[in-house]
Amino acid sequence: MSADFDVAIVGSGFAGSLMAILARRLGRSVVLIERGRHPRFAIGESSTPLSNLLLEDLADRFDLPWLRAFSKWGTWQAIHPEVACGLKRGFSFFHHRDGEAWSDDADRSRQLLVAASPNDAVADTHWHRPDFDLFLQRKAVEAGCEYQDETRLDHVERDGGAWELSGEASGGPFRCRARWILDASGPDGFLHRQLGLEAGHFQGLPATTGIWSHFTGVHRWETRFPEFQAAPFPPDDAALHHLFDGGWMWVLRFNNDVTSAGFALTPEAAAARWNGDPEAMWNGLMERLPSVSEAFRSAARIQPFQRRSPLPFRSRSATGPGWIQLPMAAGFIDPLFSTGFVLSLLGIERLCDWMEVGEPQEKLDRYGVETLADLDATADLVGAAYRTLGDPESFEALSMLYFAAVSYSECARRLGKPGLAPGFLLRSHPRFGPDIRECLLAAGRAPSADLAALVANAVRPFNVAGLCDRSKRGWYPVSAADLLQAADALESDPDAIRAMLRRNGFDG
Ligand SMILES: Cc1cc2nc3c(=O)[nH]c(=O)nc-3n(C[C@H](O)[C@H](O)[C@H](O)COP(=O)(O)OP(=O)(O)OC[C@H]3O[C@@H](n4cnc5c(N)ncnc54)[C@H](O)[C@@H]3O)c2cc1C
Repeated sequence: MSADFDVAIVGSGFAGSLMAILARRLGRSVVLIERGRHPRFAIGESSTPLSNLLLEDLADRFDLPWLRAFSKWGTWQAIHPEVACGLKRGFSFFHHRDGEAWSDDADRSRQLLVAASPNDAVADTHWHRPDFDLFLQRKAVEAGCEYQDETRLDHVERDGGAWELSGEASGGPFRCRARWILDASGPDGFLHRQLGLEAGHFQGLPATTGIWSHFTGVHRWETRFPEFQAAPFPPDDAALHHLFDGGWMWVLRFNNDVTSAGFALTPEAAAARWNGDPEAMWNGLMERLPSVSEAFRSAARIQPFQRRSPLPFRSRSATGPGWIQLPMAAGFIDPLFSTGFVLSLLGIERLCDWMEVGEPQEKLDRYGVETLADLDATADLVGAAYRTLGDPESFEALSMLYFAAVSYSECARRLGKPGLAPGFLLRSHPRFGPDIRECLLAAGRAPSADLAALVANAVRPFNVAGLCDRSKRGWYPVSAADLLQAADALESDPDAIRAMLRRNGFDG
């Protein structure tokens, strides 16, 4: 094949295919090039309120009602039941002691449940990526993208303002020319290698290792603990985290009996467990978590283990002459707090803004700066969280910063006031930005009570979710009262907040 395109997008994961669809809506000709073939296994599955809000906004802006359906569990189930996904009512965290069955005290000091939605209908989801990415790739073709899979690109060259990309496809040699290359091939991906780009570094983020797979037959964790019947949501209908000194485990259930599970480990914890055999590493980790391993006792692994070390990756720049890395190609931090989708979608939104007004260089430069700044802010938070892993009180305090920033940002956006929440995690906010940096410096260094006090002070002006409240003993439901009380913080009034809640299916 030989053709001319405005944009060549490398990688047809959710980000590449979605970007391709939106670029078509903006009148660009697009070739979407994929090394593999859908459906294929992909990791990165858990959405958040902010990522779903960004999906909704993109769906409305580009008149894509089918995309909006994927922004909530209820509409997803009603309209696309054939695309598997999981119900995510929030985040649940359980702190484990090495080799001991999990238990807690009357203060629930070894658990944290933070609801993200008031009911199942408007809840977030875990995306079963083999299904979801296949769906999006087909939509990209429907939208008029040229799609080329099983293609191994081995050469790129820029000549006269256009790129020539060439390689081998299943049917023979592949070659095309495009004005822009958008790299959606993931961390340390296509452009980084082909152009020999310089790697950067996340200060203060440990070089963690990840190991993961998909399983069937995983039992629900919560059923062994009757006290969870009174919890704000079933802890398994969530991004379920098991934390321990040196790392943590995620367990994400889909509605097709498949469960995604994996560990992220500090370099020391990973080195202590690695003898070259992923299965032995996995089994060794499970032995240290007896209550979790009980839930996996009849589980069957349905994918080979994947191990990535290190997990973090950062490019020194996200753009250059004629090329752009999508956020996950420019950098990846860690699965903790499920930030990958929202960072990808913020980047996609910025690239749409840039294309929509005729691709001005100044807007593209802004994309590069903001994308890397969002990644760095996330890395600062996650790096600090790793320092608190063996200390539940400090971890809870630190998590409050994340939940405060994202819930405030979501509400500000839903009220049509995105300017109140500048930068991911409010990093550019004149008050929250410096305060969060002070808290992160203290995390894992200051006594947990001091950190909690510092965080409570930083969160107070942005607390739309009743966070940092010890009387809740680690269980944070979504409550309309919390939001109504925070009307001033959102430069709003109770009537506007009530209208926003009604618009968004809030029945609690
Ligand atoms: C262990 C782990 C857990 C994560 N958990 C979460 C989470 O819970 N929530 C969240 O929001 N984010 C999570 N993430 C991040 C998430 O994976 C990314 O946000 C998401 O996958 C980004 O999608 P993507 O389309 O950019 O990349 P990918 O899904 O990685 O897709 C890249 C595509 O590019 C193709 N490709 C690669 N190289 C080439 C090449 N040279 N030529 C052509 N095609 C190529 C690949 O085959 C693939 O189809 C996690 C990441 C990891 C590593």
